[in-house]
Amino acid sequence: SEETPNPFIWDEIDADRAAGRYGGAVVTRFPPEPNGYLHIGHAKSICLNFGTAERYGGRCHLRFDDTNPEAEDPEYVNSIREDVRWLGFDWGEHLYFASDYFERMYACACLLIRKGLAYVCELNPEEFKAIRGTPTRPGGESPGRERSPGDNLALFEKMRAGEFENGAYVLRARIDMSSPNMHLRDPALYRIRHVSHHRTGDAWCVYPTYDFAHGLEDAFEGVTHSICTQEFEVHRPLYEWLLQALEFENPPRQIEFARLNLSYTIMSKRRLLELVREGLVDGWDDPRLPTLCGLRRRGFTPESIQTFCRKIGVTKFEGVSDIALLEHCVRDHLNAVASRRLAVLDPVRLVIENYPEDAEETFEAVNNPEDKGAGTRPIPFARELWVERGDYMEDPPRKFRRLSPGTEVRLRYACLFTCSGAVYDEEGRLKEIRGTFDPESRGGSAPDGRKVRGTIHWVSARHGVDAEVRLYDRLFNVPDPAADDDFKTHLNPDSLQTVRAVVEPEGAGAEPGTHIQFERLGYFCVDRDSTPESPVFNRTVPLRDTWGK
Ligand code: ATP
Ligand code: MG
Ligand code: MG
Repeated sequence: SEETPNPFIWDEIDADRAAGRYGGAVVTRFPPEPNGYLHIGHAKSICLNFGTAERYGGRCHLRFDDTNPEAEDPEYVNSIREDVRWLGFDWGEHLYFASDYFERMYACACLLIRKGLAYVCELNPEEFKAIRGTPTRPGGESPGRERSPGDNLALFEKMRAGEFENGAYVLRARIDMSSPNMHLRDPALYRIRHVSHHRTGDAWCVYPTYDFAHGLEDAFEGVTHSICTQEFEVHRPLYEWLLQALEFENPPRQIEFARLNLSYTIMSKRRLLELVREGLVDGWDDPRLPTLCGLRRRGFTPESIQTFCRKIGVTKFEGVSDIALLEHCVRDHLNAVASRRLAVLDPVRLVIENYPEDAEETFEAVNNPEDKGAGTRPIPFARELWVERGDYMEDPPRKFRRLSPGTEVRLRYACLFTCSGAVYDEEGRLKEIRGTFDPESRGGSAPDGRKVRGTIHWVSARHGVDAEVRLYDRLFNVPDPAADDDFKTHLNPDSLQTVRAVVEPEGAGAEPGTHIQFERLGYFCVDRDSTPESPVFNRTVPLRDTWGK
C-alpha cells in the first residue's frame, strides 16, 4: 500500500522556520469546547496538533475554549482530559481555560473601542441582517458606528455591569461594511448573556464570540501555529485583523485542514447529544458511537486510532474516510496484542460417544501465535462440548469443511473427531451432534499424518462459563447519514444484537477493557458491565477484513 504523505502543515512550518519566524519555535494547541464528548474527528486534530509539536520539539496546549456557557459542563471537561490522555498525549503543564482570560479579553475589547475599531451596536440580529448587505451588495451603517469612543466605552461598561437585557446590544468590530468577505462586515465581538458559567459563575454577563476570543487565546499563550478545520478559512482575515489591531508581536498564524468525516456515522456533537438525550444509544460511551469513549468501550485501542489518523493523512480537501480503514487498523493492532480464547456464540451440544462420562483432561493452547512471550494456557476438555450451531450441516455443499455426517474435523487444540450424525427436537431444531474421537490424535494431529478438512472451536460444556456477547453493527444504514436533516431515520435497527454465549474459563475472568480474540469469531473487549460470574463482551470487529476488498 502507498505511504501517506506528511501533513502539508509541516511544509508550512518548515518554511516558517527557514525564514526564522517565531525564532523557530512551534507551539500548537488542541482547543475543544467542553460541550460534548470527543469523537474520532477530534482525534485527527489531537494527533495533528500534539504530533506536530512533538516532531518539532515544541509544545501543544490543551485549551478549553469555554466561552459559550449555555452548553458547557465540567462533566465534558473531565471526559476530554481523560480521552486525550487515553489517546496517548500529554499536555504537561499546559492546560488552559479561555474563561481564565475573560478579564484580559475585556481589556482588549476596550482597547479596540478606544482606537475607534469597535463600537456598541443597538440593532437586533434582524435589523443588522437587514443593513448588512450581500457579498455583491455593500451594507449600510449601524448607528453605533458614528458614536464617539468615549460613549461606546461607557455603553460597553454598562453592558458588563448587567444594565441591559440579553440581546439589547452587541459589541462589533468596526471593519468594512462593503467587504466581499461577510465576516469582515462589522462582526460581533461580545454578546449579552445572563447565564452562569461553569467556572466563572455569575461574574460575567457579556461573553466573547468565537471570532474575537480564539485569536486572543492563541496570542496570550504564545501559540505559533493555530491549526483548525477548513470552515475557518473565511474567518482567517478577521483573525489576522484582530491580532494586528491589538498590535500583538509575532502573532500566531492560522492554518486550516480538512475535517475528518467517516462513513456510516455522524460527527456533530449536537447530533451525538441528540442521540444520547433521546436514549437512542446507551450514553456517550455507547460502543456504536464514534466518540473516543465509545470506541474505547467497543475495544478500539489508542494505537489503532493513531495509526488510522496517520493513514488518512492531512490535506485541504474534504472527503469521507471509510470506516473499514479504521476497522482494518484495529484488527492489525489486536492481531499483534490480543490473547486468543475459545468461545461459542450460538451453542449446540456435541457428544463424544467414546469419551468416558466422568473423565476430563486439559489441552495446551497457544495464547497468541504472533507473540511467543504470551505463553500458553490449559483448556479443559470432556465428553460434552459446545460448538457453533452453524458449524453443522446435515447435507452440506461440497465446499463445507466443518461438521456433517461421516466427516472428520479437528477440534482446535484437542483431537480429531468424526461426526456420525445429529439429534433433533420435536420442532426439527438441531439438538445434539454426535460422533467419536480418535484417542491417538490428542493434541490435534493423528500419528498416521492424515489430514482433515476443517478445524472448529469448542468449549467444554461442564467448564464453560455463560456470557453475554454484544454484537455491534454500523449505527446507520447509509454511508452518509449526516447529509440528511432527518439523520435519525437512517439509524440501523440491527446495530446491536445481544447473544448468550459460552466461553472457556480463562476468557471469563478477564478484567474489563481486556482485548481478546475469540478464535474464528473476531476481536472482543470485556465490557465495563462484566464480572467474572457474568462476563460481558463487546465485539470490536469480526475477523474478516473488508478494507481494500
Ligand atoms: P462539532 O462540529 O462536532 O461540534 P467542534 O469543531 O465544534 O465539533 P470543538 O470542541 O470546537 O468542536 O473542536 C475542537 C477541535 O477539534 C477544533 O480545533 C476542531 O477544528 C477540531 N475538530 C472537530 N471536529 C473535527 C473533525 N471532524 N475533524 C478534524 N478536526 C475536528
Ligand atoms: Mg468549535
Ligand atoms: Mg460545535
